[in-house]
Amino acid sequence: MESPAPVGGIHHLTAVTGRAADNVAFYTGVLGLRLVKKTVNQDDVSAYHLFYGDELGRPGTEVTFFDWPHAGPNRSGAGTIAGFTLRVTSRDALDWWASRFADLGVVHGPIVDHRGRAVLRFRDPEGQRLGLVEDDAAAETPPWIGSPIPAEAQIRGLQAVAITVNDLSPTAWTLTEVLGFREIDTYPHPEDPAGRIVVYVTRSGASRSELHVAERPGLPRGRVGIGGVHHVAFRVPDDEAHRAWRERIHAAGLGVTPVIDRFYFCSIYFREPGGVLFEIATDGPGFATDEDPAHLGERLALPPFLEPRRTAIEAGLTPLEPVPGRRVG
Ligand code: ZN
Repeated sequence: MESPAPVGGIHHLTAVTGRAADNVAFYTGVLGLRLVKKTVNQDDVSAYHLFYGDELGRPGTEVTFFDWPHAGPNRSGAGTIAGFTLRVTSRDALDWWASRFADLGVVHGPIVDHRGRAVLRFRDPEGQRLGLVEDDAAAETPPWIGSPIPAEAQIRGLQAVAITVNDLSPTAWTLTEVLGFREIDTYPHPEDPAGRIVVYVTRSGASRSELHVAERPGLPRGRVGIGGVHHVAFRVPDDEAHRAWRERIHAAGLGVTPVIDRFYFCSIYFREPGGVLFEIATDGPGFATDEDPAHLGERLALPPFLEPRRTAIEAGLTPLEPVPGRRVG
């Protein structure tokens, strides 16, 4: 197989919400991310696809949600994504967030040292498992002046995604031999005497990302639902690299989709051998391709092929005004 450069870090991840209005209130109002694109799931236009990120929704900062009120609850287990962490610049920022979470009633743990990094774990209102991590690379993502969060505490992109598999070796092979990740750490699973966690990294600087793979033999399969993560996407710079990666993944015997033009980026999808859905997405053209950067996410954006159906699509969506009186934390 020819060997393109390793895939870049995490491009975005896509999770599942059953309450889109509350989701917007939490990720923008509590976490201070920017809603950079309000669009629909291109494969199911009755559902919002909400993109949160930094000022421009740069690759590596995008946390996105499908709005699937009837998906049922997430059931963690083998073959699923177990959670993800977001970067902040300092330990002081973690203290600031711990105090904010306490004030707002957001479910959270203490700040702990985990394998050399300070981590503050918390849940969103639907039980989504997140963490904030002190990370030097955070400073490479500029703060967003429009955020309700002070610049020094702002979230600066995705740091790691955790997945769970029954058998590490085929997943490890995919990560290291196909995608070009490097193993950097391994330790016993804190809750499963039969399990272990192996940490893989790709690239450096702002596009440095980690994948934490929990190997848990015998753990029942999970099921993706509300409060869980549907897939994780990794970065490539352009269409040429994207095509080379598709060839490489196909040649490795992993069933991979054709290139799909998502309008804001191009995508391919494949399931790693442990069962988790992976995507590889191009960095461009990005979210300012159809909206003024000053007004991203303010109206429903539709790619050109869906624009003729706008009236019908809008009629099928529930407005995103928060439900009065409902706690967002
Ligand atoms: Zn995706």
